[in-house]
Amino acid sequence: MGCLSGVEGPYMKPSQKKLKHIDKKYLWHPFTQMRDWENEDPLIIEKGKGNWLYDVDGKKYLDGISSLWVTVHGHRKKEIDQSIKKQIDKVSHSTLLGLSNVPAALLAEQLVKISPPNLKKVFYSDSGSTAVEIALKMAFQYWSHVGVPLGTPQTKGAASGAPTKIKFLTFQNAYHGDTIGSVSVGGIDLFHQIFKPLLFHSIQANFGNVETLICQHRDELAAVILEPMIQGAAGMLLQPKGFLKKLRKLCDDNNVILIFDEVATGFGRTGKMFACQHEGVWPDIMCMAKGITGGYLPLAATLTSQKIYDAFHGNYEELKTFFHGHTYTGNPLACAAALANLEIFKKEKTIQKTQSRIKQLKKGLEKFRELKHVGDIRQLGLMVGIELFKEVETKTSYQLTEKIGIRIIQHARKLGVIIRPLGPVIVLMPPLSITEKEMEFLLKVTFESIRVVTENGENPPFIPL
Ligand SMILES: *Cc1c(COP(=O)(O)O)cnc(C)c1O
Repeated sequence: MGCLSGVEGPYMKPSQKKLKHIDKKYLWHPFTQMRDWENEDPLIIEKGKGNWLYDVDGKKYLDGISSLWVTVHGHRKKEIDQSIKKQIDKVSHSTLLGLSNVPAALLAEQLVKISPPNLKKVFYSDSGSTAVEIALKMAFQYWSHVGVPLGTPQTKGAASGAPTKIKFLTFQNAYHGDTIGSVSVGGIDLFHQIFKPLLFHSIQANFGNVETLICQHRDELAAVILEPMIQGAAGMLLQPKGFLKKLRKLCDDNNVILIFDEVATGFGRTGKMFACQHEGVWPDIMCMAKGITGGYLPLAATLTSQKIYDAFHGNYEELKTFFHGHTYTGNPLACAAALANLEIFKKEKTIQKTQSRIKQLKKGLEKFRELKHVGDIRQLGLMVGIELFKEVETKTSYQLTEKIGIRIIQHARKLGVIIRPLGPVIVLMPPLSITEKEMEFLLKVTFESIRVVTENGENPPFIPL
């Protein structure tokens, strides 16, 4: 096959071979060992439709991780496509610095409507990481405006007039993004350890010692940040029942802001619109991104309570302004996609319809316990982590050199499913629109791929794609 005609787009699509060559020559991929990449046969996606992705050869794959946790109603969803196209005919970008735009304002109203009832204001940005950066900076600046609360014992810092509530409490295994501020509140050593010299210090808790730490550090804590109900990037780690309620009370009693990072869990992924609704616990600040546009365009939002927002009110010369803003903040195309996304949730009763898929997934996963190397299976809604061990009884891990997760997902790919592991944890996170048949296929391929790779020594360490 030679050069395909490029009549549909602004560029000519070269042959598959040429494309792979260009990719390897010029692209540096995220979270990827490029030496491995350069020695592999990369899969290049050209199109999507529904819950499927198509490579440049036209071969189709079920999108088992929602294109890295973002796709909600599937690819090429008519209403979202049309909403973006209509917006293109009006304006593709205009700034929110000193101006507003139609979709940004309308979306803010809708986001407040679907969010916990105490959250009243929407601050836009472009990614989960920036949504978190904004939450941290808002919490920090909040305390510098309101000062040390009454009843707080005076510390040395307070006596000298310097703000004292400047620290963040975060959790072991937390993941909040890859920018320096969000890495500073991260707790995954594999990703975060190397950057330690660059980071600001935060106080790291676990689910056991959090009470002690909050009480001990109450005078210096600006905020606590948590992925509610389930820590995603850590490998889908679930939290003890009632933990959000307990944390909310601890924050209230000790005058600490509570931030929920719903970047992964938001927009129906856990079976509720937001994960915090499982326990009916509301944060003071909430971060959302990934699924906000239905998985179409980069957009994020940080929502706050009225109380936080009000602390930034003041006369111009008082400089209580929140001095933060990304160039593409409130991008009209992204906001138009998000508006269509939310409209579909209502029209198609997406959350309600997803419940039977969640049950099907839960039932299907039971069979995985038969597999010799499956140690733990964790699920909340459509978020699943299947943890593999070399030896389950002794919890012996696989060696990094065995690339166990990578080999399994490569096998799944040969069978027509795209998934991506987190180390030795196989992650499933299908779009909310996955059908019963597709879910069955996803479960079957995942099961077979784990079985073949972990139980059949004949497999070469690397299966070419
Ligand atoms: C993915 C993720 C982020 C980072 O989002 P990006 O858009 O990749 O910057 C932050 N927090 C959580 C919980 C996430 O899962």
